[in-house]
Amino acid sequence: MPTARRKTSSKPKRSKTFYVKKSCRFCRKDTPRVDYKDVETLRQYVTDRGKMLSRRITGVCAPHQRALSREIKKARFIALLPFLED
Ligand SMILES: [Zn+2]
Repeated sequence: MPTARRKTSSKPKRSKTFYVKKSCRFCRKDTPRVDYKDVETLRQYVTDRGKMLSRRITGVCAPHQRALSREIKKARFIALLPFLED
């Protein structure tokens, strides 16, 4: 046993917490803006029960999450999306 033992833990020690920032898919140039008629896209941001997913889960930026929630509500109002699904 050497006296000056080095730490040999499998986890690398991090001084700062780095995390990969999920990029907002609506911020990309090739993506069209959020639209209430685009049900296929909106369905990715609601659960199978019809609830909206939070930004923490979707990784959408704040302005686009607001737009998304607005469009989901519009889509619900004209019955493209359910308010609640059993
Ligand atoms: Zn965005």
